[in-house]
Amino acid sequence: MIIVLKSNQSQESVDRFMKKLTTAYDVQVNTWVGASSTVLGLIGDTTAIDDEYIAAQEVVESVRRVQEPYKKANRKFHPEDTAVTLPGGQRIGGGGLALIAGPCSVESEAQICGIAERVKASGAQFLRGGAFKPRTSPYAFQGMKAEGLELLSEAKKKTGLPIVTEIMSIDHLPLFEDVDVIQVGARNMQNFELLKQLGRLRKPILLKRGLANTVEELLMSAEYIMAGGNEQVILCERGIRTYETMTRNTLDISAVPVLKRLSHLPVIVDPSHASGINWLIEPLALAAAAIGADGLIIEVHNDPSHALCDGAQSITPDQFDGLARKVTQLSGMVKGL
Ligand code: PEP
Ligand code: MN
Repeated sequence: MIIVLKSNQSQESVDRFMKKLTTAYDVQVNTWVGASSTVLGLIGDTTAIDDEYIAAQEVVESVRRVQEPYKKANRKFHPEDTAVTLPGGQRIGGGGLALIAGPCSVESEAQICGIAERVKASGAQFLRGGAFKPRTSPYAFQGMKAEGLELLSEAKKKTGLPIVTEIMSIDHLPLFEDVDVIQVGARNMQNFELLKQLGRLRKPILLKRGLANTVEELLMSAEYIMAGGNEQVILCERGIRTYETMTRNTLDISAVPVLKRLSHLPVIVDPSHASGINWLIEPLALAAAAIGADGLIIEVHNDPSHALCDGAQSITPDQFDGLARKVTQLSGMVKGL
């Protein structure tokens, strides 16, 4: 961190400020005294320092961070890739392409079990399905809630596929006992209290990027979970809001290599929410595989035109079968597997 001090500060106030820095934080301070201003260079762990607090100090002209404000998620402190591995051996990260597939929402036992069997046969290693749904309208289908989670457990019993499903409130956590990967949806990416509570678990968390959040903000949210001791975080690029209206969101494909460069955490892509359009799922999934994503989360429905949620972006089990074959082959080529 570089701090430029205001000119003409008394030596006494500069000394007082420097003492404050070294006593409050685990840093060393180097000083450069110029003709008109003094510059301080802070060396050490600056993650806990609040830039705004520093900027608000009387003697400070400006402050600039040279190190990322996240540490546990940072590749600099953990150069090798992190792989999230479930007790059943299913893995996200560390090579390969994990496929998570299933409907936007759980609708019935026949629906979720039928889709689970189909996507498993096509190579999916995880089953997705929303039980608690974050809908824009309070009048839209809100999910089957606890019953939906029970049906996901049924499908897991039948197929052995681990469950990926979204949590909207920490009050629901007791219902998530049988859930293998807890999803934090885009709308909750900065629900910091929720993130802190999930940090206390020892269960993988699938963290989706917020609709209007930067890559760094996503990493800071991952840091919230990891700071609590839960290091099993999977990052998900699911499209962001731009001025483009042709697609539901804009898939920020460059976020994949950017995240992988900045962080050791696995990065997956959700082409379904990124595009909102069924025929775009395959090309975007191929793009994700080609760019080195660690996995894909894709909405698959047996009857998209009657889906209770996100039918327009859902692909059929047959379409998923073709897609799974292509993305697996492409990812293998790209990763040299
Ligand atoms: C979902 O995965 O069903 C979902 C609601 O995703 P997002 O939070 O990315 O919109
Ligand atoms: Mn959906």
